[in-house]
Amino acid sequence: MNRTLDERLDPIYRDVLRRNAGEEEFHQAVREVLETLGPVLSKYPELGEKKVIQRICEPERQIIFRIPWQDDSGEIHINRGFRVQFNSALGPYKGGTRFHPSVDLGIIKFLGFEQIFKNALTGLPIGGGKGGSDFDPKGRSDDEIMRFCQSLMTELYRHLGEYTDVPAGDIGVGQREIGYMFGQYKRMANRYESAVLTGKGLDWGGSRARKEATGYGTVFFAQQMLKAKSDSLEGKTCVVSGSGNVAVYAMEKAIQRGAKVIACSDSSGYIVDEKGIDLDLVKRIKEVERRRISAYTESRKHAKFVGQQPIWEVKCDVALPCATQNELNGKHAKLLVENGCILVAEGANMPTTPEAIRLFRDAEVLFGPGKAANAGGVATSALEMQQNASRDSWSFEYTEQRLEEIMVNIHRRCYETAEEFGSPGNYVVGANVAGFLKVSRAMLAMGLI
Ligand code: NDP
Repeated sequence: MNRTLDERLDPIYRDVLRRNAGEEEFHQAVREVLETLGPVLSKYPELGEKKVIQRICEPERQIIFRIPWQDDSGEIHINRGFRVQFNSALGPYKGGTRFHPSVDLGIIKFLGFEQIFKNALTGLPIGGGKGGSDFDPKGRSDDEIMRFCQSLMTELYRHLGEYTDVPAGDIGVGQREIGYMFGQYKRMANRYESAVLTGKGLDWGGSRARKEATGYGTVFFAQQMLKAKSDSLEGKTCVVSGSGNVAVYAMEKAIQRGAKVIACSDSSGYIVDEKGIDLDLVKRIKEVERRRISAYTESRKHAKFVGQQPIWEVKCDVALPCATQNELNGKHAKLLVENGCILVAEGANMPTTPEAIRLFRDAEVLFGPGKAANAGGVATSALEMQQNASRDSWSFEYTEQRLEEIMVNIHRRCYETAEEFGSPGNYVVGANVAGFLKVSRAMLAMGLI
């Protein structure tokens, strides 16, 4: 990161560095937002006087707790749980739960910080939060997962509530884990409080299209970016990193909208299928059998598996990073640009490094930041909360239509805000500024909070 910050913002950033030592991902997420806020402070000096940015950079509450659990052989394990309740100016804290060995406070804070602006962009009444644990679910039995989720919720339940904090899934947390957590919440709280968690199963309060929402939403956003350039997804070659919840449904919608998806990955490597990815096969391997992506080549002999190489070396028109943070760096961005890539939309949170984002901007590659492009997941979570509140259940078609409208609106908001603040076509500026202004206005209206 070599760009200098606005002189009004530099001291704020230094203070964030000092108070949150060692939390690199959090620093990166804060800096990315601060880099875009100079023109906002010029236009609205009261935001500087009232120290709104400093307040937004400090979580309202951070909870760190012990999660003891026993594996199938009786051995005891201790994991660490986190919930960062970042900002509730617009509604109850809302954001996912991540289970991955890399999880620490800095990662949860970066995710929670981004979540504030993302949730604001949806236009729905949700604040920002995030949680998780350094627990590694890989290779664990269903019973072990259940015991872990129950232990986590035995502590966390007291901090949650449909009007307080509403977690959802993220890496390593899907419907199975949400089910175990919801069951334990119900026991501890003695309340059938459907809207306390989202991403639930359809039989017990879940929303149709929630599972698909983040991936679908990313593709809807990408389509809008192309439409603004009088272009479309039709006939475009597409590469998607990851093969989890977001990646699978990004692939599904991209294929439905006329793109040809030729590669996807997991943490062991990537597969290329020039005839077009067989999505049913990927779903079976990843969702049902829970195996590695290399198993794809057992059924599709012409496809190839490449281990430990970046998927971004595969030539494509459209790249959708849908795995994890900082998975697409400057070197990868150069490769994509050289190979003629015209659009990158982030299904994952902060998958693109600052250097890579700059390279895309310089090369005029359309770039959709995660705060905007992957907001469809949390937006549909808010729709799940609406259905829970009215004891209703909407059809898939209706929910998907609502999701697409929300993504079209988010795109418009980002596009127009970028123009208004002197950076036409820069969706990073548009997303950061539009999200920030909405939260700031609410905070100012509520006095010193
Ligand atoms: P999943 O756990 O379902 O899938 C994650 C995928 O990314 C897997 O293919 C996984 O491979 C791969 N992956 C994870 N960590 C790494 C790593 N360190 N290196 C390489 N590959 C990795 O998670 P989701 O699909 O839910 O989440 C993916 C991204 O999308 C995350 O950034 C998440 O924060 C973001 N997101 C998710 C939302 C949701 O609704 N689920 C909403 C908005 C954003 P492997 O199986 O080998 O680990």
